[in-house]
Amino acid sequence: MIPTGGSRWQRVCDPSQSGHTCAAPRCKQTKPERKRKTFKRWVRGTVGSLLAMLALTLPPVSAASPSPVGELPTRVAQPAIEVLEQETVSDFPDSLTFRLRARSREGDIVSATLFYRLGWDDTLTLARPAPFTPAPEVALGYTWDTGNQTVPPFIQITYHWQLIDSAGNVLITNPAQIEYTDRTHDWRSLRDERVVVYWYDRPDAFGQALFQAAVESYDHVARITGAGTPGPARVVIYNSQADFCVFYARDACQPWVGGQTFSGLTVQWGNDLDWFTYDVIPHELAHVFYGEIFRNTGVRVPTWFNEGIAVYNERSDHSREMAMVRQAAAEGDLIPLRLMGGRGGSVVHGQVGLWYAEAYTLVAFIADTYGEAKLGEVILTLAANTPIEEALRQTLGLDLVAYEMAWRAWLGYPVDSIPTPITLPTLEVTPYPLPTGARGPRPTDTPSSTPTPAEHPQDVAPAPTPPPPSRVACLPFGAVLLGALAWGVKRDA
Ligand SMILES: [Zn+2]
Repeated sequence: MIPTGGSRWQRVCDPSQSGHTCAAPRCKQTKPERKRKTFKRWVRGTVGSLLAMLALTLPPVSAASPSPVGELPTRVAQPAIEVLEQETVSDFPDSLTFRLRARSREGDIVSATLFYRLGWDDTLTLARPAPFTPAPEVALGYTWDTGNQTVPPFIQITYHWQLIDSAGNVLITNPAQIEYTDRTHDWRSLRDERVVVYWYDRPDAFGQALFQAAVESYDHVARITGAGTPGPARVVIYNSQADFCVFYARDACQPWVGGQTFSGLTVQWGNDLDWFTYDVIPHELAHVFYGEIFRNTGVRVPTWFNEGIAVYNERSDHSREMAMVRQAAAEGDLIPLRLMGGRGGSVVHGQVGLWYAEAYTLVAFIADTYGEAKLGEVILTLAANTPIEEALRQTLGLDLVAYEMAWRAWLGYPVDSIPTPITLPTLEVTPYPLPTGARGPRPTDTPSSTPTPAEHPQDVAPAPTPPPPSRVACLPFGAVLLGALAWGVKRDA
């Protein structure tokens, strides 16, 4: 664990540095006013991927195979195109600037393209630098206007450049990794190869507790699945929602949002250390980790399973969830498994807490009865594009009905049969950020409109109002949850 104040990869635009010129509008020496941003999707996805593929089919890379910055390949005397210097300049939350200076030995550099991707996601975004005059040596720059998008602080960004000269030589630079550093606070961090936690204006003991919780939470998922992650999972903790909302696009940060999880990173705000270390961090880190495991999964990961494995990772004893579910079983109020997820689900306001508790017990039943290694098998089988019904059959020898009956028996309330599923009328499902730690207290404000999904939502948590009187809450959107819980978690391949 190495306490650090920021990334060693990234340099903040600083006019005082010699030899480094910053465009004036980008060089702010004081914290910019919190900026409300407009929602705008970037160019990405298919277009970026296709163009990336196109880049790889362009004429053979010249003498010029891709060369790392400042390092020449040993098998060629000298590449036709070489990188002289490259850097990124963060002006969080407004922009991130990429710069490159390159030279061709055989002609004018006539084309340049920047490709970048966020977190552990494979989706490439393509960007064109500012217009430049073709010449043997060029200085290129691209400023990504992050002020109009939701780009979380400290997210890992991997990028490369593609350059073409007039002789047809192509240079694709080696991928470089940076992080989008927020320097508007005096951030502190602790890291190892598994996790990185960021906090500010809190004692070291606060950060140590966050770090310890993050490590144990990460290790639990790693132990269950035997899997790893491409890099450390990042945890960013803000002290207030006002601070937290600064990275959101305009009108995208709703009052009820307490945190959001992205690819490789979760950002949360609050003040209750116990709530963070026992609930929030273990829950959200599970989403980060499992999000990576399911990243290329084409089959639908049921919402109840996705949330169940996250709640299962929380470090509390879960006695409250067990009591709630057993009471519901005793009173005949259990939400049937067929209504726990999938389109047409029907969890209504007032049952969210029970829904989460049941999701937990459905997962805990597997771990308790068959062992955590078997739970890991279920997860990995599902991740390998096996539908949940078949995954349960292959790993536990149970179809969905047998699974539900076994779960009921494990709860202490066996049944002789499971009612035949009722065909429900088709409901119009509205895409909606999934509730997560819906485990926070009931927010006091009820929004009057349906929240809009953020740009890269994996998991959006309601805002905490510490100290939490209860970890279970109605989500503030009431009946909208009817659609929300029907919205399965699926990662596009
Ligand atoms: Zn969750």
